[in-house]
Amino acid sequence: MKRIALLGATGSIGRQALEIVSAHPDLELVAASSGSTPIDGLAEHTQVGGDLTELLERAEPELVLNAVVGFAGLPATMWTLERGIDLALANKESLVAGGDLAVAAWRRGGGRLLPVDSEHSAAFQLLDGQASDTVDSLVLTASGGPFRGRSRADLADVTAREALAHPTWSMGPKITVDSATLMNKGLELIEAHFLFDLDYERIEVVVHPTSVVHALVRFRDGASLAHLGYPDMRVPISYALTYPERAETPIDPLDLAAGLILEFHAPDLDAFPCLALARAAGEAGDTAPCVLNGANEIAVAAFFDGRLSFLGIADVVERTLAQIDCVPARDLEELTEVDADARRIASALTRQLVH
Ligand code: NAD
Ligand code: MG
Repeated sequence: MKRIALLGATGSIGRQALEIVSAHPDLELVAASSGSTPIDGLAEHTQVGGDLTELLERAEPELVLNAVVGFAGLPATMWTLERGIDLALANKESLVAGGDLAVAAWRRGGGRLLPVDSEHSAAFQLLDGQASDTVDSLVLTASGGPFRGRSRADLADVTAREALAHPTWSMGPKITVDSATLMNKGLELIEAHFLFDLDYERIEVVVHPTSVVHALVRFRDGASLAHLGYPDMRVPISYALTYPERAETPIDPLDLAAGLILEFHAPDLDAFPCLALARAAGEAGDTAPCVLNGANEIAVAAFFDGRLSFLGIADVVERTLAQIDCVPARDLEELTEVDADARRIASALTRQLVH
């Protein structure tokens, strides 16, 4: 039996993880948390809100699935990596904001860091057992979101409701908006940099509307390997929870005879500037990705409430980055202050953009 702690059990990833855990006799849910919804009886140890590391201390899990949304997931990521406990990571924001600290804790702890994000789960499988000097580059695919093909001018008046209609994935609201701005792929670029220790120039993003190819690795001999499957998060969740076993899931294998459309093209960085902002923040390093992430969380929340336009999201992120000097953060406490600064500045900018 593997003792699993599930953080964010009421969310989109959390609910799908519950399905995988209950279908697998070797997985035992020992702890579960939610942000605000009551979850009594879901597991031996449960917690609603509060400091999730207290729940983890009590539950003594062998694997933590972090499916919290946003920077709020970072303390649990650090706690798990530091102790060498296996971490199945859906909460990409923690690796984006705290990448340097998280990777150092991962090295010290020596546990497994198993990506749940579909592109990163794919890349993990493609890179497994491959010598790093044979790898030329990694390609992450993006569906392009609901606004794929629109120009910048076409995006001026889009609403939160339109942004929430994702063409290929059904997900929580924050990541769905991030997919519409392509910030999600920007966060994933930074996530991939830290997970696979790859320079940014070796990570490419391409738009692939059907989301069947999740990632592709090019090798130095001219060969490329790709990871394919129908877009269903239960596949990477199951892979991370049962690694290295690769358990059965209820998802259909690919039906090639029914036809597959594998179309790829370059992202439009003019209409979707968040992707370029994320790449620049990743390359700048230090706390720039933390500032990018914090500002984006504020801007997305404001867009939801109708306080900020869709194009205003990138604006707020760019201006927040311009106002903060990025230096290395020594610990979680310093990083939390940087995140708070970014949020404060992004909130002020959001109010200015409206008035
Ligand atoms: P969601 O909004 O559906 O669920 C978030 C969960 O986190 C809920 O259980 C909520 O109660 C909890 N939560 C929110 N704020 C919290 C806080 N401050 N403290 C403690 N718990 C809190 O989100 P989701 O779509 O399931 O995404 C979760 C994470 O997984 C995100 O980082 C997202 O980027 C990543 N991810 C999601 C998908 C997907 O298909 N949904 C795919 C890849 C990656
Ligand atoms: Mg993804």
